[in-house]
Amino acid sequence: MGKNWLEGVEEEYDVVVIGSGLGGLTSANILAKCGHKVLLLEHHYQFGGLATWFKRPGKHIFDISLHGFPHGMVKSCRKYWTKEIADSIHQLKDVRFINPQFDVWTTFDRQDFTRILVEDFKLEREQVEGFYTHLRQMNFYDDDKRTTRELFEEFFPGRKDVHRLLLEPIAYANGSTLDEPAITYGIVFSNFMSKGVFTFQGGTDVLIGKMVEELERNGATLKKNVLVRQILTEEVDGKPQVTGVVIEGRTRDSEPDNVMTVRSKAVVSNANVVTTVKKMVGEEKFSKEYLDELNAVRINSSSCQVYMGIKEGETIPNIGDLVFTSDAPVFSSEELVDLHTTSRTFSVYYPETRPGTGRYTVVASLNAKMVDWENLSDEEYEQHKERLIEESLVSLEKYIPGVREKIDHLEAATPRTINHYTRHPEGTSFGTKFEGLKSSMELPEQVTGLYHAGSVGIIMSGWLGSMNYGVITSNKVDKQIVAMKAAATGKPVA
Ligand SMILES: Cc1cc2nc3c(=O)[nH]c(=O)nc-3n(C[C@H](O)[C@H](O)[C@H](O)COP(=O)(O)OP(=O)(O)OC[C@H]3O[C@@H](n4cnc5c(N)ncnc54)[C@H](O)[C@@H]3O)c2cc1C
Repeated sequence: MGKNWLEGVEEEYDVVVIGSGLGGLTSANILAKCGHKVLLLEHHYQFGGLATWFKRPGKHIFDISLHGFPHGMVKSCRKYWTKEIADSIHQLKDVRFINPQFDVWTTFDRQDFTRILVEDFKLEREQVEGFYTHLRQMNFYDDDKRTTRELFEEFFPGRKDVHRLLLEPIAYANGSTLDEPAITYGIVFSNFMSKGVFTFQGGTDVLIGKMVEELERNGATLKKNVLVRQILTEEVDGKPQVTGVVIEGRTRDSEPDNVMTVRSKAVVSNANVVTTVKKMVGEEKFSKEYLDELNAVRINSSSCQVYMGIKEGETIPNIGDLVFTSDAPVFSSEELVDLHTTSRTFSVYYPETRPGTGRYTVVASLNAKMVDWENLSDEEYEQHKERLIEESLVSLEKYIPGVREKIDHLEAATPRTINHYTRHPEGTSFGTKFEGLKSSMELPEQVTGLYHAGSVGIIMSGWLGSMNYGVITSNKVDKQIVAMKAAATGKPVA
C-alpha cells in the first residue's frame, strides 16, 4: 500500500485550483490571502508546472523553463508574492545572436538594441524610434489586422536581417510567427525592451519552494500526485454551475478508495483551456457558439531541450547567458519548428544562477511540433533524441571548443516529455495561440463558477503572463465567492 496522497483533503472548499503552474499558484495564493478556503491539486510529483527542474547524479540540477522573462516579474512578484522572491530577480546581461546574417551581443533593452540597429544594421535612428513608438501604442482591443510580417515590411522594408533580429527571440518566448497578428509580437517585444531579460537567482526549485511556503502561510492546502478527473456541475436556473471535482491520488495500482469528490463554489483550472472544457467538464455543458470558437483555437508549438551537465570542478568561459544560434540562411517560422531545425538557443547557467554551488549547466532549446514526435517507434524516438544531443553538442563546441570532455550528463526532452509531465495537448510550451484568450475568459459565462488561469497566447503565457493571468482570474473568483457567501448568510457584500 503506497502513500495516500489524498490524506487530509476535506470534503468542501471555497475554491479548487487545478494545476500548480505559475498561473495556478498565483491564483491560489491571492484567493488564500483573501481568506478563502483553497485546495490546490497537482497531478505531477512536483509543484510548479512548466516552471520546474530536475536533479541528476553528479549533483546536477537542470531548470526547464528558467531562461528569461521581462522586468515586470519584479513588480508582480513583489505585489502578489513576497519581497524576498522579487529581490532574487536579476538581469541577464549577455544576450547573443549568432547566425549567417549577423553576430550580435546585447543587453536586449531599448537603448542597446537601438544602438545595434543604428550602428551595426545602419538604420536611421528616427526609423527605429518610430517603430518603438508604434509598438508602444499598439492595443489589444484595436482591431488591427496587420501581421508581424506586414509590420516589419512597413518599418524596415526588405530588411530580412532586421526582421530576424526582431522576431527570433520572441518566437522562442511565445511561439509567435511572422503571419500572426502584429500585436502578438508587439506586446511581448515591448515588455522585454523596457529593461532587458531577467532571471530568478537561486533556481526554479528555490522559487517554487518559496511560493509553496507562502501559500501554506496563507492557509491554502496543496496536494501533489493528485489528478483531477472531472469537474462536476449541476443545473441552476437553466445554467450549469460548478459543484466540485472528482480527484484521484496517484497510486501504482489504482486503488478504488483513492478517488474522492470534493465540493467547491468555484474551480480555477490551470490546465489547458481546451482540455478543461472537453475532458474535465464535458462539451455538452457548453453552447454551440462557444464550442465553435473553442474548436478553432490553435494549440501553440512545443519544444525540445538538450540538458548538458558540466562536471563538478570544471569551468566554461562566458559565451553569453542566452545565445540564439542558427545555421538557417534567413529566418523562417517553419524552419524554427522543423524536426531538423538548426536553430537553437543555448541557456548557459553560470555559478551565479545557484550561488555557492560553483556549478555550470547548459540547456539547448529547440522549438518543435508534437506531430513530428508522437508516432515514432521507441527505437526511432531514442535515435532522434540521440541525434538532438549530438547536433547540440557539435553546435556548442563551436562556441566552447572541447566542451564535450567537460560534460558528464546529457539528456534530451521532447514534446512527448512535456505532455507526459503536464498533460498539455501536443506538449505545448505556451498553451494556445492568442485566440484562446477569449475562450478562456468566457468560461464563467458558460458555467457559473468555472474559471481558467493558464497559458493562452500573447501576454497571458510565459512566466510573467501566466502569473499575471492568475491575478486577473483570482479577482473574478474572489468577487463570486464573496457574493455567494453573502447570499448564503443573508449579509450584504462588504
Ligand atoms: C522548455 C520551455 C521553456 C520555456 N522558457 C520560458 C522562458 O524562458 N520564459 C518564460 O517566460 N516562459 C517560458 N516558458 C513558458 C512558461 O514556462 C509557461 O508559459 C508557464 O510556466 C506556464 O504556466 P501556467 O500557469 O500556464 O501553467 P503550467 O506551467 O502549464 O502548469 C499547468 C499545471 O497543471 C497541471 N495539470 C494539468 N491537468 C491537471 C489535472 N487534470 N489535475 C491536476 N493537475 C493538472 C499540470 O501538471 C501542470 O503542473 C517555457 C516553457 C517551456 C516548456
